[in-house]
Amino acid sequence: MKKVCHKMNHNKIIQNKKIAQLDYIKWMKFILRRSDEVGKVELPITAVIIDENGRCIGRGSNKRETNNDPLGHAELIALRQASWITNDWRFNKCSIIVNLEPCTMCAAALVQARMGKVIYGAEDLKRGGFGGTIDLSDHKSAHHKMFIIRGILEQDCKNKITTWFKKLRNQK
Ligand SMILES: [Zn+2]
Repeated sequence: MKKVCHKMNHNKIIQNKKIAQLDYIKWMKFILRRSDEVGKVELPITAVIIDENGRCIGRGSNKRETNNDPLGHAELIALRQASWITNDWRFNKCSIIVNLEPCTMCAAALVQARMGKVIYGAEDLKRGGFGGTIDLSDHKSAHHKMFIIRGILEQDCKNKITTWFKKLRNQK
């Protein structure tokens, strides 16, 4: 009996993992669709925060140019909304999904917010805070276990960013 229960739990875990993976792809597709609109003014980055039940509790897009705000990164805007909605600053059971690897500022904020999982598409070798330049999830200043899932729809995410930069250069 004990064995069966164990097996069932194991299957359930695998199933949950599959659902999570599909969920990440679903959200990433949503983010990439949004990026055409965001990309008219800003570098097209959008972040979505989901709770343990897969519900969206926060959303943000890059607003640095629009608001002349150096802190106006998608992840920070999504974090503010999520903490306002949940009335909590801790996010151990939540996940954030974003098309580009969070920068060091956002990565540090996500560590402070105790974000459970960070899921991103393309890595950022110039500014990335989860491995691109430094990995803050693994740094001694991080006091909680954080899971990083990299490379969800990676090529699509990369293409969006490089196309945007190409367009910007052509406009100048
Ligand atoms: Zn950032």
